[in-house]
Amino acid sequence: MNPPEKVIEVIRKNSAFLITSHKSPEGDAIGSELALALALEKIGKNAEIRNLDPVPETYKFLPQSERIGKTERIDKRYDILFLVDCGNTERTGWADTGNIPADSIFVIDHHRTESPHKDNGWIEPDASSTGEMIYSLIVSLGVDIDLDMAVNIYTAIMTDTGSFRYSSTTPEAFRIAGTLVEKGIDPSKINEEVYEKLPFRKLKLFSYVLKTIDRNRDGNVAWMTINKRMFSLTGTKSEDTEEFVNSLRSIKGVEVAILFRQTGSRSYKLSLRSRGRVDVARIAEALGGGGHREAAGCEIKGSISKIRKRVIGIVEEAIQNKN
Ligand code: 5GP
Ligand code: MN
Repeated sequence: MNPPEKVIEVIRKNSAFLITSHKSPEGDAIGSELALALALEKIGKNAEIRNLDPVPETYKFLPQSERIGKTERIDKRYDILFLVDCGNTERTGWADTGNIPADSIFVIDHHRTESPHKDNGWIEPDASSTGEMIYSLIVSLGVDIDLDMAVNIYTAIMTDTGSFRYSSTTPEAFRIAGTLVEKGIDPSKINEEVYEKLPFRKLKLFSYVLKTIDRNRDGNVAWMTINKRMFSLTGTKSEDTEEFVNSLRSIKGVEVAILFRQTGSRSYKLSLRSRGRVDVARIAEALGGGGHREAAGCEIKGSISKIRKRVIGIVEEAIQNKN
């Protein structure tokens, strides 16, 4: 994959960059932001990173993650606002398209969901991860990848490909991983940081959530539900729910898995996972969200019983129509 000339040009022609990503950022978002900022600095640019939500505990090991700031007060103006792993300002949860602290926006993303900034952006739905795109960008800029960048990029690719297991895993993802290992990263240490330092409270939360698992008559749709009470009983936050929904998809016969997570008294965040035959990004888009064919999400307002009934109905129809 080669980055288009327009992204190289945006970098060459400008000097002050603000980098942000989607709300509730995870490995690909944070790793990509950090690697991009470090590379921009290597060529003499100013780069800052700010996100709506703080870095989750799990990702605090990422080199220089402490430099990621909040978006509450931004007094400075920048030449460019980079949206990384994020297709539009709405997903950032803070940047208002009409009033951004920069002269223009540039998107670097691999989500399939249509971006309003695609003319001012580089969108690669076939990339395994935004980390993969950032790697090729850094190489094209002629920047030598140092160990800090390498750890960030590897974590981005590893987390978004489910440790190189999902169908989104490209030959390029493996090739880049090989190069990063040669540059000195320790894959087993990164695996341990991300997957084997879980807080006890997360497993405690999972024990509550597991009690809610259910499936339809055909056994091809399975779901589970997290309510506010489970979070308060266990002292957990939304970041502690990462990976829960994947355990549902691993049940034999399940085509689509859904996690309903309460976000307000009458609002729920949905995480949808597909085994590949059904495109859950289409379902999420129809409900106001987006994502990838096999992993997507959206937020819906209403009572849980009505939301569940409606969403399960839509998913069953998609399975029947094989789309
Ligand atoms: P997760 O279920 O892990 O939160 O998200 C799965 C995928 O769907 C990710 O690629 C994420 O960026 C995307 N996604 C989740 N929620 C939303 C949403 O509300 N809107 C859009 N456009 N994408 C989402
Ligand atoms: Mn991603």
